[in-house]
Amino acid sequence: MFSYVCSKFKGRPTRGTASHSGAVVYHRVNFSLEAKQLDVYVKFRKRALFPCSNCGAPDQPVRDIANHDRTWRHLNFFEYPSYIHAELPRTNCGKCNTITRVNVPWALNKPKHYFTLHFDALIIALAKDMPMNAVSRFVGEHDTRLWRILHHYVDNAIAAQDLSYVTKINTDETSAKRGHNYITIFIDPEQKNVICVTKGKNSRIWDE
Ligand SMILES: [Zn+2]
Repeated sequence: MFSYVCSKFKGRPTRGTASHSGAVVYHRVNFSLEAKQLDVYVKFRKRALFPCSNCGAPDQPVRDIANHDRTWRHLNFFEYPSYIHAELPRTNCGKCNTITRVNVPWALNKPKHYFTLHFDALIIALAKDMPMNAVSRFVGEHDTRLWRILHHYVDNAIAAQDLSYVTKINTDETSAKRGHNYITIFIDPEQKNVICVTKGKNSRIWDE
């Protein structure tokens, strides 16, 4: 993991400083048998430069630290949850004049997102075959946090769909829960892709 962190999270050293290879450095690891978890602490190098997370302008100096212990859950270490703790710096971009938090390469840059990309991938893989409340029990996380992962990736995948080739749409109305909570699924029958899922049924949903 550390090689991943350092190779992806690079910032060029300020002129005249020692030749640092990466902006983020491993700081320490703590494994607690009592807490049943592994904690990995990383820091950024002093005088490291980061790209602006708003406009992408490279080599922006650190303005301040937005969070001294931003934490993300990572994949398990053996059977124990592991967590990455990091200082999260902000830059004041000289190009777009915006103060933003630095993007870290191991997680989405979202305020209420508490997991690494690898953990996101695990949840998505599990959610394909398990109901979310079962996934929640399995990983020991509240399902509200897990739904946030799924909504992010599904919404992005739907927005990125190219529907220009679609010539036919089929719909399937089904009951989402016991009772009359109906959902309608729109399907591209030729590619066998789900295009959209929405609450309700009947002709009204076509207007939405
Ligand atoms: Zn910028």
